[in-house]
Amino acid sequence: MHPNPCVVLHGGAGNLARYQGTTRLTDAEEFLSSLLDSVYNDLLKGASATEVALTAVRAMEDCGFFHAGRGSSPASNGVVELDASFMDGSTLRVGAVASVTLPRHAIDAAYAVLTRTEHVLLVGAEADAQIRDFGLETVSQEWFTPCDILGAAWEVSSAQLPPMGTVGAVVLDGQGNMVAATSTGGTLRKTAGRVGDTPIPGAGTFAKNNVVAVSCTGHGEFFLRAVAAHTVAMRMELLGETVGTATAMALQSVVTLGGSGGIIAVDHRGNYAMPFSTSGMYRAARNSRQRIVAAL
Ligand code: ASP
Repeated sequence: MHPNPCVVLHGGAGNLARYQGTTRLTDAEEFLSSLLDSVYNDLLKGASATEVALTAVRAMEDCGFFHAGRGSSPASNGVVELDASFMDGSTLRVGAVASVTLPRHAIDAAYAVLTRTEHVLLVGAEADAQIRDFGLETVSQEWFTPCDILGAAWEVSSAQLPPMGTVGAVVLDGQGNMVAATSTGGTLRKTAGRVGDTPIPGAGTFAKNNVVAVSCTGHGEFFLRAVAAHTVAMRMELLGETVGTATAMALQSVVTLGGSGGIIAVDHRGNYAMPFSTSGMYRAARNSRQRIVAAL
């Protein structure tokens, strides 16, 4: 049994400071807090990193607090388009979907691509058709309750809307296996058909056993250009940097390009890092030594 299994979650980075004085931050923190303890206990009882990451991301997709799953808002054509990816660090296998409209859980669709096809990434209408064929739970567009308009206290003008939001989980389990899972509705008010970093292995999501598992959130165009998640892994593997230094340096390369956001990562010893360049990032982490839940 690995001595220090670890789970790290994020619910997106952005201008969360503007929610100060509303219940939104504390509500989301309470949600993350109980989810964190529940999935960490699963880990201690022997659940695999895969099971824990899927459970955590499904719950965050359903909760409506974050811009993923149910909380997603529509693209410019009025349709919610979801992106997600799942990477297994023990095999370097990845499954991903982009611009899909049907699944209740885009992360399950990504995982089905990994486990049930020979492909890495399926997109658009044909991916939706595959999701039906897989027998995954589907929803109609009415099911989505965009998190940016939930509740009067949260309503803000278009100019104040955060440009982004996503959910992610990185997990090191008792066997030493590492996975990363990320799911998003994309950037708010995105152009229909636009795909960000979330479903792209190495950009928004990456995992490699004995090195690191990474999930990113933020302005995806910049995370794509910085190949941010893979940069974290390569800095650790090739330069021998700690997870703290490697995530900070990868985030810096995003910021240097003009982007913003955050990164969560766990290394093979159960050390984690959660840097962000925005005013906040919904985040939660637990290992044998530390437990943190925060928004700002
Ligand atoms: N990275 C996501 C995207 O660009 C959005 C986010 O994380 O907030 O689609």
